[in-house]
Amino acid sequence: MARPLIAGNWKMNTTQAEAVALASAIAAQAGQFERADLLVCPPYVYLSAVATAIGDAPVALGAQDAYHEPSGAFTGEISTGMLLDVGCRYVILGHSERRHTLGETNEIVNQKLKVALQSGLIPIVCVGELLEEREAGRTAAVIREQVTGSLAGLTTTDATRVVIAYEPVWAIGTGKVATPEQAAEVHADLRKLLAEEYNPEVAGEIRLLYGGSVKPDNASELLAQENVDGALIGGASLKADDFLAIAAAG
Ligand code: PEP
Repeated sequence: MARPLIAGNWKMNTTQAEAVALASAIAAQAGQFERADLLVCPPYVYLSAVATAIGDAPVALGAQDAYHEPSGAFTGEISTGMLLDVGCRYVILGHSERRHTLGETNEIVNQKLKVALQSGLIPIVCVGELLEEREAGRTAAVIREQVTGSLAGLTTTDATRVVIAYEPVWAIGTGKVATPEQAAEVHADLRKLLAEEYNPEVAGEIRLLYGGSVKPDNASELLAQENVDGALIGGASLKADDFLAIAAAG
């Protein structure tokens, strides 16, 4: 199995001073986590300051989104080239808050994904069902639709560079975590789907993260599940001790 990836999504939180303090606290201890890769995704405006705070520590930098055009008249948008320019290696795409609050479709995520891959960024594509979809027994169908739509047209080589985060929407920021069995079931389905879409080797290389109320006290059980290759963490990534405790569990 790939080394677990422990990724923090800071969302629209922190001041610049808080972002720098958080990154510095994580960077100071990052050397201890030989068995996990660490990633922080601060707000765009703090990327450079956080990159400086991280320095040479083994913590990767990522952004929470990117636009699919390289430059030009797209007021307010940020390109993948700009993200690379300030030191990003990763970019989160299709987070449920963007899909459900800002109306991002699989087609938009797919456009962004292709551009991110072309530019050399590692994309983390988020998928996940709403509570009503789970209750209607539609979880597998929703995940299939989001994965095939968001990853449409990728070569097998490109597919191996994608990270997928399964984030049940009902578990994000709610404190309601998926049970390890629920996470394991969807992750097994994801691996099977990727083997059908590409081939078993490619499916085995794609890291599958779980996200949704991951905390220090539930992380080890979730991360111990087969096919769970890491975690995407919102709330708990805003406290260095909690984020590092989750990394230790990985
Ligand atoms: C997220 O933002 O992707 C997330 C999983 O948030 P939380 O850990 O707060 O549920």
